[in-house]
Amino acid sequence: MKISEILNKKEFIVSFEFFPPKKEENEHILFETIEKLKPFNPDFVSITYGAGGSTRDKTAYWTKLIKKDFDINVMMHLTCIAATKSDIDANLSMLEQEGIENILALRGDPPRDFPEDKIKKEFRYAYELVSFIKNRGDFSVGVAGYPEGHIESENLEKDIEHLKQKVDCGADFVVTQLFFDNTYFYDFLDRAAKYNINVPIIPGIMPITNINQVIKFTEMCGATVPETLIKEMIDKSEEDMFKIGVEYAIKQCIDLKKNGVRGLHFYTLNKSEATKLVLEGLL
Ligand code: FAD
Repeated sequence: MKISEILNKKEFIVSFEFFPPKKEENEHILFETIEKLKPFNPDFVSITYGAGGSTRDKTAYWTKLIKKDFDINVMMHLTCIAATKSDIDANLSMLEQEGIENILALRGDPPRDFPEDKIKKEFRYAYELVSFIKNRGDFSVGVAGYPEGHIESENLEKDIEHLKQKVDCGADFVVTQLFFDNTYFYDFLDRAAKYNINVPIIPGIMPITNINQVIKFTEMCGATVPETLIKEMIDKSEEDMFKIGVEYAIKQCIDLKKNGVRGLHFYTLNKSEATKLVLEGLL
């Protein structure tokens, strides 16, 4: 079912993000995670896509498998930076054939050592992919939004202008980058409203369960981690860090719900426990 239709019917949705395991021996972990999270009746789950196209087959494999074997509504991520129009067209044909109606349209970040000649330059930005998809078929298309601004962006105003461009090209909804301080998200909603971005904006949530994870993610996507959370976690056992992270995410989600968010999109990292506890904490 199209996510845009679900958002028209429901006030609040829940979704989970997974990545295709690189190694076959790790596939059972994702199977178990999906089994454990399915009882929460997600409105959809999404499967990431490597920017260089490296995960193309695996992303397609998991997208199809989750729809068929688990009977869960799916959204496939699709990146365009290293893709040709015919690559994208092939993906869209596959999705049509499988009856998969939801796509998260992204530019993507090629790996650091990615050869320059593999950047196809047929799409420079995600808005071009949104346009291409919308002109080509009947898909519900989501795009990425950045409450703290995209890491390459000149400033927050420019970033929101670029988000507006994606929405004007036909994006039906926005899923945000993870953030830990809700103030950034509420300010982002205000900026989006100022630019007449009227599609639903779903916050991306990642329960932090380990201090090393905090450092890694802050460097990768520029999300600010509150000092208080870092201080609380430092020098704690793995078990205590997990509990602190889950408690923090529960409070964060309660506050978001209280403020009327349209849903929660969990970055699960293919693990179920933290997401499960956060959702139980919200009941
Ligand atoms: P764009 O919207 O194209 O923006 C990229 C940069 O260009 C921004 O700084 C923007 O401000 C700027 N920009 C946009 N339009 C213009 C313009 N017209 N002129 C000048 N500048 C412009 N990556 C993956 O590789 N695979 C995934 O599966 C994946 N899933 C993600 C899921 C979510 C929910 C999010 C939030 C991110 C995901 N990413 C994924 C990461 C994403 O690919 C990167 O953040 C990437 O750097 C930007 O992608 P985008 O689609 O936001 O790009």
